[in-house]
Amino acid sequence: MNSFSVNNYSAFNTPYSYYNGSYSAPYWQGQQVYYTEPENNGADNAAKTVGLAAMLQALAIGIQKGSQWFAKKLEAGKEFTSSDNVHKIADSMIKRNKLNVTVDYITPQNRARYASNPALYNELEDVAKGQNAFYADQYKLAVAPKSKPSLILHELGHATNTKNPILKLLQKSRRYAVYAPMALLLASKVIGKPQDRDKNFIERNAGVLGFAAFLPTIIEEGAASLKGINAVKHVPKNLLNGALNTNILKRNYLCALATYILAGVGLGIASKQTIIENS
Ligand SMILES: [Zn+2]
Repeated sequence: MNSFSVNNYSAFNTPYSYYNGSYSAPYWQGQQVYYTEPENNGADNAAKTVGLAAMLQALAIGIQKGSQWFAKKLEAGKEFTSSDNVHKIADSMIKRNKLNVTVDYITPQNRARYASNPALYNELEDVAKGQNAFYADQYKLAVAPKSKPSLILHELGHATNTKNPILKLLQKSRRYAVYAPMALLLASKVIGKPQDRDKNFIERNAGVLGFAAFLPTIIEEGAASLKGINAVKHVPKNLLNGALNTNILKRNYLCALATYILAGVGLGIASKQTIIENS
């Protein structure tokens, strides 16, 4: 038996960091899959539990690999149209939704203008490299890499989501989702064992419950992407020049959503692992 501690959670070594600070909506690169190290619970441990723990561990690693695959796919994804067109679509999105948001396309050079805010400046490093984009509600700031401007439409989708009380609530829930394994464990201890069986409801359903904790985030992410995709058709065709392929945008955003879904599955696995280790 080991007592639970947050240190039990190790992030897989992804090239992307999960920003769990005050930005409400880090983008695709933000996903980590959480997992717990299997513990050696001693010789009394049933072989069944050890087998299950090993299986969950293997599953967590597979999930992580899958997430990285989608992230790489997104990173290598083409832009669906010229940056000029993206800027126009973004501007129209701001006007149409009456957003009070500053949009910025970050390069390694222009990032310096945020040097007075070290936390923000730090966060912009990956954006400058083309590896992240985010909407920071506290600054009413949406940023995307200058090299990958189309990500801004998704971020403006997050900004638009804040105008809807329910979607805003889903957005805020993100920061608490990572505590699901700990919360489930505590709740399970409070409930205790039922008289007629050896596992309580939480112990039996920890995986699904852990995933459910991340579902609001997945939904809000999907909603942000849909808003970004829909923004394209609200701009009159004669204002846009050259090629425009919305299917590329959809594919890119789907890869992003896949990393979130897998992160949810990872959280479910971590929840199950935490319950197993502590029972
Ligand atoms: Zn997002």
